[in-house]
Amino acid sequence: MKPWTQARDSALWLVERQFAVSPADNPLTERCTGIGRGHDPAACEDRGKHPCVPFSRVHTTDPKQVQRWFGGEARNVAVAVGDVRGPAGERLLVMDSDRVGAIEDTAAALGHPWLPTMRVNTGKGYHDYLWAPPEVQLGNGLGALRGKFDGDVRAGNAYVIGPGSLHASGAVYELVDPEQPPMAAPEWLLDALTGCSKQRTPEPVHQRPLRMPAGRKSAVLTGLVKTVLDSREGERNSRLYWAAARAFEHARQGLVDARAVADAMVDAAKHIGLSEAEARRTVTSAYRSGAAR
Ligand SMILES: [Zn+2]
Repeated sequence: MKPWTQARDSALWLVERQFAVSPADNPLTERCTGIGRGHDPAACEDRGKHPCVPFSRVHTTDPKQVQRWFGGEARNVAVAVGDVRGPAGERLLVMDSDRVGAIEDTAAALGHPWLPTMRVNTGKGYHDYLWAPPEVQLGNGLGALRGKFDGDVRAGNAYVIGPGSLHASGAVYELVDPEQPPMAAPEWLLDALTGCSKQRTPEPVHQRPLRMPAGRKSAVLTGLVKTVLDSREGERNSRLYWAAARAFEHARQGLVDARAVADAMVDAAKHIGLSEAEARRTVTSAYRSGAAR
């Protein structure tokens, strides 16, 4: 197998999931195949990173185009961050940790857990893929995380080198868990990146008794409901999304009723202060992410 068929297969996997991709330089070619103003392919010292096309305009979700781009000489795959949309119109946000543990350390320092999301190992650290609500204006700036995060943010007109690509060090960018989709970005992270926490004040908590799902089969569901109930401010949506996605997996296996899952999750979300509309959006998004797999 030619080493770069990995990038092609990975690009096909990505476009199947509606990630827009384009070709980038692969260190196996003699000269850098990247383009860009002032870039000298023969003297390039940052191999494996540069886009072969104007990435912000030229990218695809078409498998035939992927075959054309990745069927010949070695190429890395670039994911066009600015033009990827989630199941409910969300925007892609990639947290690029320069070292293992960077984003976890930042989250912990700010008093938050870092929950599993789609992750690509990069050789020195990793890219964590997250969905951000379309109305939140994000760019490639660190915002309030400047000096508090060993890495970069990619959420504007940007690309990241995707799984299956070859790093100049010889490491291959590797998807950690192909079953794990991007999760909703936690509110604390969006607040930190946009620096406008005042616009994202939580809605009042509904103080009313909560119906816990009943019955023997619902033990797992009860645990997931508790995960939602234990949310702290700033992580309610991401925990809800995570718990709902897990609960719907159980529903798909016939262990619980999908409608019961949706009701229990929305109920729990309302209990911790999310509006019904917001809760339903997140739960629906979690449901679709599983259905799409
Ligand atoms: Zn280059």
